[in-house]
Amino acid sequence: MTRLKLATVWLGGCSGCHMSFLDLDEWLIDLAAQVDLVFSPFADIKEYPEGVDVVLVEGAIANQEHLDIIHLIRQRSKTLISFGDCAVTGNVTALRNPLGGAEPTLQLAYIQQADLNQQIPHAPGIIPPLLDRVVPVHYIVPVDIYLPGCPPSAYRIRAALEPLLKGENPHLEGRDLIKFG
Ligand code: SF4
Repeated sequence: MTRLKLATVWLGGCSGCHMSFLDLDEWLIDLAAQVDLVFSPFADIKEYPEGVDVVLVEGAIANQEHLDIIHLIRQRSKTLISFGDCAVTGNVTALRNPLGGAEPTLQLAYIQQADLNQQIPHAPGIIPPLLDRVVPVHYIVPVDIYLPGCPPSAYRIRAALEPLLKGENPHLEGRDLIKFG
């Protein structure tokens, strides 16, 4: 049996979607028997590889690094899943959009609201610049499957992955599987 190459990516999100992935509990053992985890915050792999079968992308596109890697991810992945409400709509990550850009956001967070050490972090090459506007993943690259939820429950994640393991498309329907929040 060919093992499916699975990746998970953490972009502009809180990692709650990845925590929910860990809630798959004992099914993770079944999953591990059927996939190779080729890139993930759970694994120390530095470069997004070629030939990924399925990738779960958590988070919105909020900074330059996200923008760069999402193009690479799309190019190197067969099935891209928008994983969680931040990836699907912008959600919490996009709450800063009404502030009107990166600079007012940084000013508010690091100067106006800071009690101590008011300064905007600046480390070129280490801290990627914020984009002026946070956008969901499908604003930048085509998405194959949307998995809403903040976070999507382990039940939903399994409902999306299990058919893909059999080479089938998941049918995510009904309140249990496609409700936001
Ligand atoms: Fe966190 Fe919710 Fe966004 Fe997932 S969808 S990254 S849990 S805020």
